[in-house]
Amino acid sequence: MQGNKTLTMIKPDAVQKGFTGKILEQITGAGFRITAMKMLHLSIPRAELFYAVHRDRPFYSELVQFMASGPIVAAILEKNNAVADFRALIGPTDPAKASSDSIRARFGSSVQNNAIHGSDSDENAKMECDFFFNQLERF
Ligand code: GDP
Repeated sequence: MQGNKTLTMIKPDAVQKGFTGKILEQITGAGFRITAMKMLHLSIPRAELFYAVHRDRPFYSELVQFMASGPIVAAILEKNNAVADFRALIGPTDPAKASSDSIRARFGSSVQNNAIHGSDSDENAKMECDFFFNQLERF
């Protein structure tokens, strides 16, 4: 069965440029319900932990530095078929290859500084929601 939850992070580049409000408006306009949300600054060790699956990729250290470079906004989003529908809304990893109305094309500037994260499977969505939010923080 397809799940109804996904985890997003508005990344430091987009928060720093003041795009948080516009991005949240596009997300809710596309039918996602925000059921948890917080602004926080990831430490290097927390960013390493979040992206541990990428630890062998050549860009891991650069990615971790970037994700710990400033505040982010993390949120749990709910909708039927949340993971796939949200990946479609944000577009592919490289903003230059994304359709012009996608969140990454509108607000991202490079493969790394691509404005937003979306979980890539139901299993990872659950782990990532648990990474940021306890039960008292979910509505
Ligand atoms: P996603 O699922 O589309 O976010 O892409 P991945 O899981 O493959 O990569 C995770 C994140 O790492 C991306 O969203 C980018 O911020 C970053 N990233 C991916 N590929 C590269 C790369 O080639 N170089 C750098 N510096 N960062 C990358």
